[in-house]
Amino acid sequence: NEGLGSWSARRARTSPERVAVVHEGAALTYAELHARVLRLAWALRGLGVRTGDRVAYLGGNHPALLETLLACGTVGAVFVPLNTRLATPELDTIVRDCAPALLFHGGDHTGPAAELRAAGAVPQLVRVAGTAERGEDDRAGTAPAGATAPAYEELIAAHEPEPLDAPVGLDDVCMIMYTSGTTGRPKGAMLTHGNITWNCVNVLLDVDITADEVTLVTAPMFHTAALNMTCLPTLLKGARVVIAPRFDPDLTLDLIESEGVTWMFGVPAMFNALSAAPRWAEADLSSIRILEAGGAPVPDTTIATYQKRGLTFLQGYGMTETAPGVLFLGAADAVRKAGSAGRPSFFTDARVVRPDLTPADPHEPGEIVVRGPNVMLGYWGRGAGTPSSHTTDGWFRTGDVAVTDEDGYVRIVDRVKDMYISGGENVYPAEVENVLHEHPDIADCAVIGVPDDRWGEVGHAVVVLSERAGATADDLADHCRRHLAGYKVPKSFAFADALPRNASGKLLKQRLRHTL
Ligand code: ATP
Ligand code: MG
Repeated sequence: NEGLGSWSARRARTSPERVAVVHEGAALTYAELHARVLRLAWALRGLGVRTGDRVAYLGGNHPALLETLLACGTVGAVFVPLNTRLATPELDTIVRDCAPALLFHGGDHTGPAAELRAAGAVPQLVRVAGTAERGEDDRAGTAPAGATAPAYEELIAAHEPEPLDAPVGLDDVCMIMYTSGTTGRPKGAMLTHGNITWNCVNVLLDVDITADEVTLVTAPMFHTAALNMTCLPTLLKGARVVIAPRFDPDLTLDLIESEGVTWMFGVPAMFNALSAAPRWAEADLSSIRILEAGGAPVPDTTIATYQKRGLTFLQGYGMTETAPGVLFLGAADAVRKAGSAGRPSFFTDARVVRPDLTPADPHEPGEIVVRGPNVMLGYWGRGAGTPSSHTTDGWFRTGDVAVTDEDGYVRIVDRVKDMYISGGENVYPAEVENVLHEHPDIADCAVIGVPDDRWGEVGHAVVVLSERAGATADDLADHCRRHLAGYKVPKSFAFADALPRNASGKLLKQRLRHTL
């Protein structure tokens, strides 16, 4: 087994006593993790899971998600993490798309899981957290149709940690991971064991992870950033993953202090919430070595807040389809190149191109394209390397606009889809949002292009004010005029209590457009 399924075995051989995972105060060593993975792998076999079968997982942050992934890798099954924030009809679409043989679900997701099964979207369930009602038959693998799902712990207890050697290669699909669905329907990215391994190698080199790393995972583990960017590289290195059941600023600060966290990834919205927490000023952050933001445009004010606190605050750029790392800003450049997402990861190439796919000049905005061993096989159900996602010479088209500086550092500008054209000029909402974030009264904001008779399109800003702040639309327009060319200044402002975000903390601009 060349794939992820061998990782816990290899770690159990090289660092059996070291702690792999901490969750709600309980620790699991690499030897214990490996034994559980083997038991679960045999259980998967017992439930009829065969090579290439999909196994879906619907649940919050929990070590069982990692165990299930590694057990799938052990038997050659394809792991499909599902977004817990989706409504049941949305889950139904995804589950029918990937047609899993089994659905693992957390105790909080018993309802949707049962609905999916009743609707015929998935034939079998496994319940991760105990939710059995008394008297119901729970025994591993014996539940007849209509009975409750077998319980995860019972499945594990019912099997022995015997070696299981399935032929799994680096080119076999390891997971189908659905994109965040920020710009449309989530797409199932087929990531091979090789894609994920190469991404982990990139992360080990970029972040310079050590065996003493204590990695805090607070972002949702069904998302590529938490799972592939932080959990898996940490496990590959034999270091420690601390799993927070959910993102909560106070809990995050508590865990940083009590577990001695050294590295954490977050989307900008999480870092903004963390620095706005009442306990932020007094919290002991001395164990932190690196904070990494990405997944959405990172406001300059967010970077400044963390750098003022003396923390190494870095930016990364990536996406589900690239498993996910593409660009990374190294610690040595954090201050000098603040605002940039850095340079391509070691084994990955990225460049900014014109519409005819020729390389753009420094400072010329263009689409960023990616090539490397971490780029997905293709979208599930749409064939490998579909023309819409790849150029003819093999570059993956990200749909993001970026600019390179004279030193080769790349700044992410915005998504191609979010750009609008006002009076013939391209406007990137992220740039306008960045300026709005600098206004002291603004807690959150989003800018979208709306139709306009005179200019074609103009900017419309939706703003969430900080508590007790009183800025008016005129104040905000004045602020923008001082920092931006006239055509970039939003023509209208609306005030809201909160902005629609998806589970990855990204702004759902389509939803904002619908509310106009
Ligand atoms: P969908 O593809 O379904 O619309 P999504 O693109 O949000 O959803 P992800 O794969 O989770 O799904 O996110 C990748 C995207 O996140 C990138 O294409 C980019 O637009 C954005 N992103 C990631 N990192 C950064 C960053 N550092 N700065 C700006 N944007 C970023
Ligand atoms: Mg995308």
